[in-house]
Amino acid sequence: MEKKPCGCGNKKQENNKIVKTFSEPPIEKVPFKNAISMVQGYAMSMVSRGFSDKKTDKTSKQLRVLSCFGNKNTGGELPPCSHLKPSSTDGKFYCGGCGCGDRKQTWLNGNDTEYSKLDYPKVNCPLKMPGFTNYEPSSPLEAKEPQSRKNYIEKMNFDAILQTDVTEPEMPKEISEMFDKILEAQKNKNQP
Ligand code: SF4
Repeated sequence: MEKKPCGCGNKKQENNKIVKTFSEPPIEKVPFKNAISMVQGYAMSMVSRGFSDKKTDKTSKQLRVLSCFGNKNTGGELPPCSHLKPSSTDGKFYCGGCGCGDRKQTWLNGNDTEYSKLDYPKVNCPLKMPGFTNYEPSSPLEAKEPQSRKNYIEKMNFDAILQTDVTEPEMPKEISEMFDKILEAQKNKNQP
């Protein structure tokens, strides 16, 4: 996008309304390492989920929802992440940046009874966005126009973050019991 001294190159017109535009740094591409870190990240999430009915705290989930979905749908100005992809299942979305595909276990949104990927106590984001386990603060460059989505969330008013609507489902009992058994077996194996 052309950057104009007046800053108006950072705004665009949508449905007769002037809207702010945002930058998004590219996902770091490290050959071979990505596949390994993807598997490690998935294993970390699965094991974190197994520690007796756990889910992330509400504020972390609110930050994750802002990171992935933005707040435009609730009247804010932050658009969804450019890596957010609609699932082939109606109404569901998954992350197209982490390579874990479109499956029930990888959907980023659920409802009051569906435990989604954003509910895991530990879960990574390829852009290291706020609310995720591997979060890293934005660089000073990201504060410059066009401001990055990450920098925008970091500067949001805390009350506005707390107003983000999220569901807080419990992990299904049968899955919780299955993971407890796996962890118990691991513990017994490590004992002398
Ligand atoms: S997990 Fe990260 S990269 Fe993926 S959609 Fe969410 S914010 Fe974007």
